Amino acid sequence: MPVPLSLKCPQCGTMNPADRQFCQVCESPLDVAPEILPEKRVTIDERLVIRVGLVVAVLVLIFVLVKVGGLLKRNLSTIQQVYHSDLVEDALGER
Ligand SMILES: [Zn+2]
Repeated sequence: MPVPLSLKCPQCGTMNPADRQFCQVCESPLDVAPEILPEKRVTIDERLVIRVGLVVAVLVLIFVLVKVGGLLKRNLSTIQQVYHSDLVEDALGER
């Protein structure tokens, strides 16, 4: 396995000296692991990320649905209250 003479920044693509831990341009942490790791490992990582992302997305979706559902219920009752109070005001005003 060849020893890298310089590290390519994963963020901005700048070539940095091999002894640097952070990019000299954007100060991102320089990680050579993705280039050294075999493709299979990266694929598994990507699948894991996708799976975790999907689980998180579903959880967020459920959370949002519950939250929006609660808000809608609350808003509906508020709207009903406002509507009824308007009706009462109209009725009182007409008298
Ligand atoms: Zn950089």
